[in-house]
Amino acid sequence: MGKGVHDKEKVVNKKHPLRISATIFIGLTIHATTSANDALPLGDGKVATQPTAGYVYRCGQGRDGNAPRMAAGPWIQGQYWYPNQKPTVRGDVRWPQARISFDVVRDKRVISTNALPNHSTGVFPIQTTDPAYRYDRNPNRISEQTILMRIPANPTEAATPNCLRPGPIGYMLTGVALFDALDANSQDAPAHEVQDRCSGHPQQQGQYHYHNASDCLIDNAGKRGQHSDLVGYAADGFGIYGLRGENGLELTNNELDVCHGHAHTINWDGKSVRMYHYHMTRAFPYSLSCFKGTAMRAEGGAMNEPRGENGGPEQRRPQDFRQPHRTDLGDDVCRLRDNFFNSTIPIKYADSILVNVIAMLT
Ligand SMILES: [Zn+2]
Ligand SMILES: [Zn+2]
Repeated sequence: MGKGVHDKEKVVNKKHPLRISATIFIGLTIHATTSANDALPLGDGKVATQPTAGYVYRCGQGRDGNAPRMAAGPWIQGQYWYPNQKPTVRGDVRWPQARISFDVVRDKRVISTNALPNHSTGVFPIQTTDPAYRYDRNPNRISEQTILMRIPANPTEAATPNCLRPGPIGYMLTGVALFDALDANSQDAPAHEVQDRCSGHPQQQGQYHYHNASDCLIDNAGKRGQHSDLVGYAADGFGIYGLRGENGLELTNNELDVCHGHAHTINWDGKSVRMYHYHMTRAFPYSLSCFKGTAMRAEGGAMNEPRGENGGPEQRRPQDFRQPHRTDLGDDVCRLRDNFFNSTIPIKYADSILVNVIAMLT
């Protein structure tokens, strides 16, 4: 290798570690595991209308990718972002009243939770004195929810994968809802939004949630270099596991299927069975990108499915809709909401909000 080429690669390496490791080690059997120090590819706009590896398969039409947001933080550089350079929302708020239970009743697993985390959180709304405020002005307060969900205890794969709706796509063992990788602008939520040290933050109804792997999920087996522990359940009943696969190494997207999972023998409710399951990954799409099975909806509570998209039932309490300045975009709208209230949303996007508001009021 000539000196010039070597120098050039060194420069590229500094900027895009993932890309260069793929170039250098091509042909070798390596597992390109990433750590918190590495750059991750930005997932902006990676929304698909059919199951596609590396994309989020969302129900309905694509979202308006032109909705405004605050300026990107310095941890986003080109097509990459650096998780360890992103600030976290300050605070150490404890939630002793947090509760969640997973009970198998006949063929169902019944999830009952108030959706508060069993770990501490940052202070929300984000305080003006918090350095994170410069990049994210999440005005929402974490609040208790009433969630009851019945999912199949022994799920089966659907004939074809099913799309994800905005809002909870599963519940983690920490009591926290899991949302998919996208924010309200169809952008890479973990890259653009500022979360607390457990990678969580609340949306408009106060539901605290993750968009990617949280350091506060317990994965003892993964820490020992084994296949990760179960960390949650998807709304279709399949298990969600941590970052590590059977060889104990962190999984890459290439090792997972279109819905971000795979099948092998796992311990399921005390039995050893070969079964499909999802994995979290450090890189986008971070968790599920579609449902391998058929997703169940939560019953009751203020925060279930964000809206009756595709003709589904509207489940929120009516009074939730009458409060001024409540929009219902489904996902957190950290940047969008401020702009909405200042009426700077492009007409195209404002349209879809209006349609939803009208649907809620009628
Ligand atoms: Zn696995
Ligand atoms: Zn969010």
